[in-house]
Amino acid sequence: MDPKLEAVFQSVVARNPGEAEFHQAVREVFESLEPVIQRHPEYLESKMLERICEPERQIIFRVPWQDDRGDVQVNRGFRVEFNSALGPYKGGLRFHPSVYLGVIKFLGFEQIFKNSLTGLPIGGGKGGSDFDPRGKSESEVMRFCQSFMTELYRHLGEYTDVPAGDIGVGGREIGFMFGQYKRITNRYESGVLTGKGIAWGGSLVRTEATGYGTVVFANEMLKTRGETFDGKRVVVSGSGNVAIYAAEKVAQLGGTVVGFSDSGGFVVDEKGINLDLLKQIKEVERGRVSDYVERRPSAKLGNSGGSIWDVPVDVALPCATQNELNLGNAQTLIKNGVQVVAEGANMPTTPDAIHALRDAKVLFAPGKAANAGGVATSALEMQQNASRDSWDFEYTEERLTAIMENIHEVCYETAESYDAPGDYVVGANIAGFEKVAKAMQAFGLV
Ligand code: GLU
Repeated sequence: MDPKLEAVFQSVVARNPGEAEFHQAVREVFESLEPVIQRHPEYLESKMLERICEPERQIIFRVPWQDDRGDVQVNRGFRVEFNSALGPYKGGLRFHPSVYLGVIKFLGFEQIFKNSLTGLPIGGGKGGSDFDPRGKSESEVMRFCQSFMTELYRHLGEYTDVPAGDIGVGGREIGFMFGQYKRITNRYESGVLTGKGIAWGGSLVRTEATGYGTVVFANEMLKTRGETFDGKRVVVSGSGNVAIYAAEKVAQLGGTVVGFSDSGGFVVDEKGINLDLLKQIKEVERGRVSDYVERRPSAKLGNSGGSIWDVPVDVALPCATQNELNLGNAQTLIKNGVQVVAEGANMPTTPDAIHALRDAKVLFAPGKAANAGGVATSALEMQQNASRDSWDFEYTEERLTAIMENIHEVCYETAESYDAPGDYVVGANIAGFEKVAKAMQAFGLV
């Protein structure tokens, strides 16, 4: 990295000790920015990088609630309002035991550039809690969500900060939180949360959007080499909302998804995943991937010592969580002839794995570009709420597809113009950064 950028990076590390994921996300962006600061030395003079790495506001709060036995539980809630240069803070809430400030800051930082790439008027933020939804009853989840919102509501607003879901937060949790927000504020403020139910202000396609968008983006990458998904073997990691709808879009485009996973293991199904069964197990029963194997004769559980990345494929879509695809996994994928890796999750590929994939000329798309379809469709949900309207599935999906194709084009062309043809990391980081930096420059020192 350029010594001036390295110095700023070291100052970010020193100011944010112990937040490894945040450091990783910042480093990955900085590694792309050397040619930008050469063209725009004013960004160094105005401390643009230091300013972008410092969240505008960070909120940490107590979330007390009672479990079904009547015992008191205490969790920690977070909302990092990172950057509002392009619009109200926008980004999901993650409920997972691994959540701490460093995870929320990495996600919030990524969200700034992702949201910028969508071309829609949304700033970057992220929040969540170390609450573990697994094994909790529906009423425990409700009480937790109500307590969480009882503090968070005062920081939100359709022009201020608009949360949505992420890992552990889906339609059910958004419902409980919207209900509590509405009750406390006495306002039916639809645009304050996205990922809402269709009956009460949600947008069609929002559920599918992150997975669909990732596959549309990967398809654009394939097209640059004169190929498509037709006949391709694919694995998705994970089996949550992103993975399920990525798999669905792959199947629609003629590819075969032969594997998926959860934290308990991975499944190989050479006949191609039965999506109805997977949806039943994951969305209705909230079960495990092992339940799928029991009910599907063509499927088998992967080796306990192995990983989903051992399965030979043309396209790999990491759709589970951060740092799930490491250097060894990347080397195996390369050896088996992978052509495209596109991130459906946020930062699932470790930095050394990204370098290995790029050195091997595998097309690699970072999450901030490839998985932007989720938040883009959230912005479409906000548009519908603002105009008190709702669009049909077909039109909304057309808008999503056009947005993903546009993000691909912007990343591809930005990489070309900075002498890094085919490098989507460089393209996404520079294009995402430039828009935010221009807006911040225009606003003066605020
Ligand atoms: N959590 C999603 C993401 O990582 C979506 C955020 C949103 O819709 O606001 O982009």
